[in-house]
Amino acid sequence: MSRLVAFAAIQGGYNIVSKVEGKYKRALQTYNADTKVGFPNTAYFLPVIYSLLGIKVEKLEDMQKPLAFARKLLPPHVKGQNHLPYLGPLLDAGIAALFAFELEEALRYLEEPDFYLPTEEVDEEAGKIWLGAADDTIMRKRGVEFVDGSAPGFAAIVGAAPNAETAKLIVEEYQRRSLYIFCAANQNGTTVIDQLREAGVQVGWNTRIVPFGPDISSAIFALGFANRAAMAFGGVQPGDYKKILKYNKDRIFAFVNALGDVNAEWAAAAAGCVNWGFPTIADTDIPEILPTGICTYEHVVANVKHEDMVQKSVEVRGLKTTVSKIDIPCAFGPAFEGERVRGADLYCQSGGGKTQCTEYLKMAQMNEIEDGKVTVVGPDIKDIKEGGAFPMAIFMQVAGREFQEDFEPILERQTHHLVNYIQGIMHMGQRDIAWVRISKQAVEKGFTLKDIGVVLHAKFHQDFGKILDKVQVTIYTKKEDVDKITAEARAAYKHRDERVENMTDEDVEIYYSCTLCQSFAPTHVCTVSPERTGLCGAYNWMDCKASYEINPTGPNQPIEKGAVVDPKLGRFAGVDDFIKKASRGAIETYNFYSMVNAPMTTCGCCEAIAAMLPACNGVMTVNREYAGETPCGMKFTTLAGVMGGGASSPGFVGHSKFNITQKKFIVGDGGLLRMVWMPKILKEEIKERLIKRGKELGVPNFYDMIADETVGTTEEEILPFLQEKGHPALSMPPLVG
Ligand code: SF4
Ligand code: ZN
Repeated sequence: MSRLVAFAAIQGGYNIVSKVEGKYKRALQTYNADTKVGFPNTAYFLPVIYSLLGIKVEKLEDMQKPLAFARKLLPPHVKGQNHLPYLGPLLDAGIAALFAFELEEALRYLEEPDFYLPTEEVDEEAGKIWLGAADDTIMRKRGVEFVDGSAPGFAAIVGAAPNAETAKLIVEEYQRRSLYIFCAANQNGTTVIDQLREAGVQVGWNTRIVPFGPDISSAIFALGFANRAAMAFGGVQPGDYKKILKYNKDRIFAFVNALGDVNAEWAAAAAGCVNWGFPTIADTDIPEILPTGICTYEHVVANVKHEDMVQKSVEVRGLKTTVSKIDIPCAFGPAFEGERVRGADLYCQSGGGKTQCTEYLKMAQMNEIEDGKVTVVGPDIKDIKEGGAFPMAIFMQVAGREFQEDFEPILERQTHHLVNYIQGIMHMGQRDIAWVRISKQAVEKGFTLKDIGVVLHAKFHQDFGKILDKVQVTIYTKKEDVDKITAEARAAYKHRDERVENMTDEDVEIYYSCTLCQSFAPTHVCTVSPERTGLCGAYNWMDCKASYEINPTGPNQPIEKGAVVDPKLGRFAGVDDFIKKASRGAIETYNFYSMVNAPMTTCGCCEAIAAMLPACNGVMTVNREYAGETPCGMKFTTLAGVMGGGASSPGFVGHSKFNITQKKFIVGDGGLLRMVWMPKILKEEIKERLIKRGKELGVPNFYDMIADETVGTTEEEILPFLQEKGHPALSMPPLVG
């Protein structure tokens, strides 16, 4: 912390308290000690003093006690060579200043009873523009908006902007975010309120722009309003200063904008506000108080440009943007999630083996992206012919002070159900094998690709507002861009997959469920362990863990694995208990490491499906991208259709590509060495890892022993190849014993 700011604030505290002591003394010479004092129509006396100290100031002489309290709070002066003072003394000086301000305003009510207008609206004709303390009627009517969220908080603006347009710009931006704007103090005789009136902006409680008063002391009305709300709506008792301040910090998203030169009195007021968790954002070069402690983030941030003022303030206070309306031409909601887009209804599509379709979510720095910006780079729906297929990359960038790279896959995976929520749009798959089908009805309603971004932005804020602040979406539809993003995405997928590389299922006692896919496959329950990633490939154990942290009541619940019932097949008592419940009795048990005996359930999302090849005494697997025939007699689509509804189908299992080279892959059936056939593209995609696993399993040339479609697509065609290569499956015990 800067010594300068501490010096200024402490000095300010002394100045204010001394000044008000003088005013109080003079008042005692003019008025009787038992003269009534206070703000109009309130049961809360001088509300800041009453709420924090429990002292009721009703008569002039009652001011003595809080004034003495303020004097006592003043910390020792900061001497030239002193070490940096800590936050504590500064906060005390600030509170002392605020108590004095409240007394000063009460004295003004006594001495100039007509100075403030006790209404909600200003009287332009009479030139009465200062409203002073809100009475209890206004406080109840407006305060409830802070409680029900229709007003998230307030911006207390002190001083004046360099000109009227700037003032208007800032204030209107706050209005758009439903904040109240509480205005106080002047800068060389000019106030924001004067500037707004000059710019033709209506001020008053009804436009949420409240002209409290022309002096810095009138800023106290903002805090008095906040503290009364805490007592009235939060049930906090007067005098319970800790609870009052905490209520404000947690519930009222307020902050101060200091416009213009910050003098010692302003500095003291700013320090005082820190006690409420209300930070100050200034447009001048004042010393900053950056470390966190009381406020959610920084305490004082300086030198903020006017065009950045609102965004920065909202960010420093940790105010979350809420997007309540999803502005797209189609209906939207979970009701449409399960809806299909069949051939006859199809207008155009991306992915599904016809073109590349990738979705990739990447964390960004706060200043790197613009919240709510959605761009389509390349052709949009209007440029695509009916029946057409187009490449697409949905590139989502998310930033937030609480956001971590670990959360990327979780948000990315939301694309699936969120895009499905749009009526007339169907989404399948994930990562670089997504598939989006757009219906004629949606196009008739005016759907464009941009709407995908609008949905993602809005829903990410709604569902994950706690962990993110900004969402920007770019949708690429030119092949070269799509390829570029896809390459980048693949590197990220690889990195994510490898985070569980060195963990084993024995290492952990907790596995995680995933029931995200139950809307399509009602009995489907994925159990994700370190060595068995989700069959969609999008969720591994780490991802589920992070997802549970973000959303403890969400689709990823911890499962105590419990007693190991069968270590070879991978069966666990705790898991069985869980899946029985989670599948509503449809599934009694399943094995993690077997496709032959009670395999895990499969949903339509799986990246690949393994099937038995009895004549070869082995298994094959086929990935979604491979559209050709396979030796089990079924194409991927047929296999997925047969078993993708959430059943456990002995002899088949859906799995992720990464899982193939995880150590526990069908280990109950003999493990990876059973693998006799894979499509060439899949083999090549995981080549490096296959070779490595082969070596670990003592078969260094295993990669070359696996047949693909160039060898054959029936068991008869591939068997001679396997024999010639001496494939290990041929000498294993029979697959089905
Ligand atoms: Fe979750 Fe499994 Fe669906 Fe992936 S496939 S999203 S892990 S339920
Ligand atoms: Zn699924």
